[in-house]
Amino acid sequence: MQRSNTWIWLLLVAVVLLAPGPAGRFLLDLVGGITLALLLLPLLLGAAGFVAWQVIQRRLRTCETCGFTSMATDQCPACGSSLGGESSAQPGTDQLDVSNVTIDVQVVDGDPTSSDP
Ligand SMILES: [Zn+2]
Repeated sequence: MQRSNTWIWLLLVAVVLLAPGPAGRFLLDLVGGITLALLLLPLLLGAAGFVAWQVIQRRLRTCETCGFTSMATDQCPACGSSLGGESSAQPGTDQLDVSNVTIDVQVVDGDPTSSDP
């Protein structure tokens, strides 16, 4: 029973595909679209998952006190220590360091003239 059914379906598909007409072209388009979707869907899902993982990874913060990783921005949910203040203050101190260095250079520039014999 099943063998004859599959043969009938194969014959039907062959006839529809070989028959020059709108039905055959529509079926070809349908099969092509389904194949394209099946091929592209995993790629799209993979790309979406990759982007989501990147976004989550950027928002994830590791507590410096206990090492707990979470998406919390203010406080560590495990130990309660502040997360956002420390991590956001580090770039600011870096920029302050650069300006301090330039000021130090100006101060050092004046020193050799006074100590020059
Ligand atoms: Zn913690």
